Amino acid sequence: METKYIFVTGGVTSSLGKGIISASLAKLLQARGFNVTIQKFDPYINIDPGTLNPYEHGECYVTVDGHEADLDLGHYERFINVETTRANNITTGRIYQNVIEKERHGDYLGKTVQIIPHITDEIKRNVKLLGTKNKYDFVITEIGGTVGDIESHPFLESVRQLKWELGKNCLVVHLTYVPYIAAAKELKTKPTQHSVKHLQEAGVQPDILVLRTEHELTADVRRKVALFCNVEPKAVFQSIDVPSVFEVPLKMQEQGLDSVVLEKVGVEVGPTPELAPWRSFLNRIYNATEKVKIGLVGKYVELPDAYKSINEALFQAATYNDRKLDLVFIHSEKLNEGNAEELLSNLDGIVVAPGFGNRGIEGKFVALKYGREHNLPTFGICLGMQCMVIEFARNVLGYSDANSTEMDEKTTHNVIDLMEEQKSVSNYGGTMRLGAYECDLLPESKAAKAYGATHIKERHRHRFEFNSDYRNEFEKAGMKCVGENPDTHLVEVVEIPELKWYIGTQYHPEYTSTVLKPNPLFVDFVKAAINK
Ligand code: GLN
Repeated sequence: METKYIFVTGGVTSSLGKGIISASLAKLLQARGFNVTIQKFDPYINIDPGTLNPYEHGECYVTVDGHEADLDLGHYERFINVETTRANNITTGRIYQNVIEKERHGDYLGKTVQIIPHITDEIKRNVKLLGTKNKYDFVITEIGGTVGDIESHPFLESVRQLKWELGKNCLVVHLTYVPYIAAAKELKTKPTQHSVKHLQEAGVQPDILVLRTEHELTADVRRKVALFCNVEPKAVFQSIDVPSVFEVPLKMQEQGLDSVVLEKVGVEVGPTPELAPWRSFLNRIYNATEKVKIGLVGKYVELPDAYKSINEALFQAATYNDRKLDLVFIHSEKLNEGNAEELLSNLDGIVVAPGFGNRGIEGKFVALKYGREHNLPTFGICLGMQCMVIEFARNVLGYSDANSTEMDEKTTHNVIDLMEEQKSVSNYGGTMRLGAYECDLLPESKAAKAYGATHIKERHRHRFEFNSDYRNEFEKAGMKCVGENPDTHLVEVVEIPELKWYIGTQYHPEYTSTVLKPNPLFVDFVKAAINK
């Protein structure tokens, strides 16, 4: 079958859940046996989100091939369990960078380089790359931002051209918002009409509308929207607030979003898939009554998206342990020896978050010391693992000035140090140790038992590493290096076997945790927390 391209655009406001709608549609098509991928086009000028701080766009997700990506790629992977790559996340910055490189290379043969056709051609080339290279049946492209933004114009222009070129093989799904005015007790469709007009001004006629709403849409509202927006009434869907985002695919299937898509691209619809494993996950969410209380220690507590993948991995792990996740964010800058007991003693487990720089680092040591001394299940991720090592060096090995050279270049006990290949790096973007690396686990370790494997692959994002000069000392004192890279021998996992569950990973296991395939280390951690 020829690749079908589906664009998902958004209007009225951001945060309507374009990523979830894209992922849900992908899920439904995948359940029908199609080969599906999703990509995100972000209109900002950064080359990738790797250099953005979490206040801007939340967490930076990392793909298997080491791309620092928009967090929506995390939703895509969690929903459809298909790995994304660098090709699944394009920004305006990357588009311009490619075009400018080609221009310097003389590829444009002396022509004036312009937004149309050169930038739009580059966008179109990138849209189609996954379809042609990997032979996907469906490539779903989410266009970031909101219709009407200056930045998104070249993307919409490319969609217009592609719709024209691809004909039936191309569809546009537009997501908008229908507000409810409580005083008038009315749902209002005007913002939707305006946002569709914006799209039409760009020459793009949406084929399907998804209306985000907090109240059920009446048949009347749907008819009205269909009439004003040139869309068939059966192609107007509602996306109503649901207690769990994992219900969205089911809600969309009930209304027939996937079958309307198939009809419109001329593919036989066939029987509706049951989505049994997905439903069983949802049932476990709703049936869990007992709670497991996990404290996440980090410096971005006011920003739930900063640790998106960790939250999701913990949620999946709790669900697979038939528990409700009670996640408490603990601000590492506010945690100290004086309030540790008060803030940590009622937890079942502690996760110490990844991060960069000095801010809030002392609070992480306090949490780790508390976890270690109280035998509370404790999980250190990336910087969290490095802090585990530093805390152990300070309080067990007695090196009171032990540190990472990231925090103190002059420390005499650099138990965490810059990796050799990082010493000459001067550019910030995309230069860390990124993406999936292999790791061998000691068979008797808790980590190996959790994975049920001694050879794993997980994704990284860091510049610093465990300093192997200290390895023997740590091991003698009770902190074992149980995971290492088979080629470079970098230490990837540490644990204290004496304790119930005290494990730190230099990698980020949260990136590989999906709804139907939760990461085993998270599942095991939550299990230990429950059995505490
Ligand atoms: N800042 C640390 C490093 O670069 C840890 C990074 C992280 O937690 N992702 O090594």
